[in-house]
Amino acid sequence: MSSTALDILQNTYGFAAFRGQQQRIIETAIAGRDSLVLMPTGGGKSLCYQIPALVRAGTGLVVSPLIALMQDQVSALRQSGVAAAFLNSALSGEERGRVAARMAAGKLDLLYIAPERLMQPETLAWLGRFPLSLIAIDEAHCVSQWGHDFRQDYLLLNRLAAAFPTVPRMALTATATARARADIAASLALARPEVFVSSFDRPNIRYGVAPRQDAKRQLLGFLAAYREQSGIVYCLSRRKVEATAAWLSARGFAALPYHAGLDAGVRARHQARFLREDAIIMVATVAFGMGIDKPDVRFVAHLDLPGSMEAYYQETGRAGRDNEPAEAWMVYGLNDVVQRARMLARSDAEQRHKRNERARLDALLGWCEATGCRRQSLLAYFGEDMAAGAVERAPDEGGQAPAPACGNCDTCLAPPRTWDATEAAQKLLSCVYRTGQRFGAGYVLDVLRGVENQRIFELGHNRLSTYGIGAELSLRQWRSVLRQLIVRGLVYADAERYGALRLKQTARALLRGELQLRLREDVAEARPVKKARPEAEVAAPDADLWEALRACRRTLADEQGIAPYMVFHDTTLRQMAAQQPAGPHELLTISGVGQFKLDKYGAAFLAVIQRHRSAADKRA
Ligand code: ADP
Ligand code: ZN
Repeated sequence: MSSTALDILQNTYGFAAFRGQQQRIIETAIAGRDSLVLMPTGGGKSLCYQIPALVRAGTGLVVSPLIALMQDQVSALRQSGVAAAFLNSALSGEERGRVAARMAAGKLDLLYIAPERLMQPETLAWLGRFPLSLIAIDEAHCVSQWGHDFRQDYLLLNRLAAAFPTVPRMALTATATARARADIAASLALARPEVFVSSFDRPNIRYGVAPRQDAKRQLLGFLAAYREQSGIVYCLSRRKVEATAAWLSARGFAALPYHAGLDAGVRARHQARFLREDAIIMVATVAFGMGIDKPDVRFVAHLDLPGSMEAYYQETGRAGRDNEPAEAWMVYGLNDVVQRARMLARSDAEQRHKRNERARLDALLGWCEATGCRRQSLLAYFGEDMAAGAVERAPDEGGQAPAPACGNCDTCLAPPRTWDATEAAQKLLSCVYRTGQRFGAGYVLDVLRGVENQRIFELGHNRLSTYGIGAELSLRQWRSVLRQLIVRGLVYADAERYGALRLKQTARALLRGELQLRLREDVAEARPVKKARPEAEVAAPDADLWEALRACRRTLADEQGIAPYMVFHDTTLRQMAAQQPAGPHELLTISGVGQFKLDKYGAAFLAVIQRHRSAADKRA
């Protein structure tokens, strides 16, 4: 490895060592070869093209689809002293002229550019006059017509091969879907690319799913641990977004709504606040999130079920990009199961597409009901075995081989109990059958529980043998049973018939007593799980210092109109709080402190630490 790459890593970025496959990826680009880099969000993709662009002669082009993203990356790079700029439609003619002048003077290390601008003939001709160190194509899955983020203008990027035959190209993506990956190398016409695949595990994200009981109260309980932190709360509908944001604001949270129905100016303002401030809760539909490159999103909460495993992975992936502990939390219930199936049935997509979508939804539903490790089954869905290093678990009482466990998901931390639900399921299924498979969940459960209401009497269902045989379970418990029966494919809510419950073939075996059924016990209250929070890791006496460092960072960021994380990431502040460096040399050993930032910010942070120490000495 050329020492220059390592020098840049240490001096410019302030990191001690490369991570994962970064070094090999960087070497490949420096050697002038094409590559395809598949790495999860937070894996450290940016360095993979930034460093070779700094090592090789010429300017590195970075193709990126999102304007907001470009701006942030460029601002963050400038903080480390890297000469970076961007070209997109948001710039005025005058600003573009300034960028062109810097380019002509050979003063740009990195130029971020939107694909539609790059592929204009005049832009290509203009760029042809300068030496280029490499071309990085970020969010490369946008070329895939199978992906959720397909962009027409990405297809044109295959012409880069002919336009710049001697410039190495690097395609990067965090997409976990096999189909999109397969498309990328072919669609971009990469020349025999070296392919780098990393694990798609996000070990710092804790996964959890709670049965929906009182969603608002559950959300409050969840958020209690995240005061003064950034996060995203996803809802399905615009109305629910508005209502939830208003409700949280009334409870003292800095919550903002975001959905496609809001005025573009409002949306831009809310997004900017989310990015620039360090404790905003964004309540949003899925319209929010693409290209949100904020590293310190501490949680992603879903109040409604996403449409597929793929969507879930992508949406929750926005948490914890900085590799600090983060949480993906969801409430989920019977309504989600019925509602999602109905949405799918109503969509006017072609049949084959609908079947695929249905399979993806079913995978997610099954995952919600999982009794085993969630991380393990999430990774398995994307074709990956859980990495070695997963915590060992003792064989269970039956002496069976230990199940894989990550130790950082709800089912690992508090294994769910199961119960023999054979008889309950028989009662419910026969009630569906006796009422003629014509009624939705609410009605069937009323009959089962012997509710006295007019409709039941009118239809004579109070005279059925299944009327009132379900008194032993509460409504909540019955809804849990039904939800799981649907997910396991014993019964389904027929979207064409207003959600009428209908039996599936497998239900007959159960009704005949040929099948035993164990179901997951919904815990009455999502058990409070001990959480590893960043603040919790800063020992109690130093919590003051942590707050003081954060305040210092906020002031410095505000002065420049940038986001606090661009000054220093949480990881860096946490190390400062723990090690309390006394001078610049010590400060430089902290991860994320490079020479440029040391010169710019070192004195301010050292002063904060010094003040804290003297105060502590006085107390002692
Ligand atoms: P991605 O683009 O893959 O989502 P980033 O490039 O934004 O990931 O990197 C994620 C985080 O990891 C950032 O906070 C970055 O500073 C940090 N990081 C990347 N490489 C290293 C490294 N070698 N050592 C320490 N931190 C790193
Ligand atoms: Zn687990």
